[in-house]
Amino acid sequence: MRALRWDGIRLTLARDLPEPEPAADEALVRVHLAGICRTDLEITRGYLGFRGTPGHEWVGRVVAAGDSDLVGARVVGEINFSCGVCATCRAGLGRHCPTRRVLGIAGADGAFAELTVLPARNLHRVPDSVPDRAAVFVEPLAAACEVLEQVPVGPGLRAVVLGDGKLGLLVAQALAGAGADVVLVGHHEKKLPLAQRLGIATGAGVPGADLVVDATGSPGGLAAALALVRPRGTIVLKTTVAGEHRLDLAPAVINEVTVVGSRCGPFAPALAALASGRTSVAPLIDAVYPLDDAVGAFARAAEPGVLKILIEAGG
Ligand SMILES: [Zn+2]
Ligand SMILES: [Zn+2]
Repeated sequence: MRALRWDGIRLTLARDLPEPEPAADEALVRVHLAGICRTDLEITRGYLGFRGTPGHEWVGRVVAAGDSDLVGARVVGEINFSCGVCATCRAGLGRHCPTRRVLGIAGADGAFAELTVLPARNLHRVPDSVPDRAAVFVEPLAAACEVLEQVPVGPGLRAVVLGDGKLGLLVAQALAGAGADVVLVGHHEKKLPLAQRLGIATGAGVPGADLVVDATGSPGGLAAALALVRPRGTIVLKTTVAGEHRLDLAPAVINEVTVVGSRCGPFAPALAALASGRTSVAPLIDAVYPLDDAVGAFARAAEPGVLKILIEAGG
């Protein structure tokens, strides 16, 4: 089969890899469509030392599984493969399992390939009403929905989202969908009108916000968030940057700010948000590349201001 490979130095398209073989509790999935995310770009800059096939945002169809009911189902899949038996897993925190593998990120080949393998229990069926080009956003949208799991969000909450990239646009929609008054702060001329079309207000952000979400992807995001959050307000960090923060944390102490780290989230609410039309993702797609040009797709995704680049592996 064909798959995009990262060997630590360069990306190449391999054409004659053996097909992966699923274990009894796994499923073999034919990938339809996969999205390039910031993490994938970070991997090609050395993040986590990953080697193999990247790709963790995808939609596809099960072609083989121990559970024959799954065969033929159109699915998306949670990316953390937990052990299921350690204390962390037994506490319901499988996404934090210390020995987890992560699809296309740590210890498991991912979805920029014709076929990929996941634990069957990680899969979620996609409703017929959600097309592939929306379902491919379930993973990043789940990460956006994670904020709602961590912080009470409801009508009247004054929220600011810093960063008008893909994740910021998804987080802003998730917060607005829960009733918050959201202002998206960004600097890409092309993206702010897009936010407005999605019904998200944009602006500079006024100090005194109840909640500030840093989705800037830059080390300066936390300092900007500290300047906007109200006393006893909450900052959610969605940014992982390879590098160190240098900032004055005194405002966090003086204002008794709660700082919450936030990563992967639950798939079910993300699928529901897409099925209901509450979240719209089609405007976030910049281009779709064939798997044969996956290397070119990565180059395009790394250009400044580019939104979601998708790779079509088949159908
Ligand atoms: Zn991602
Ligand atoms: Zn575990």
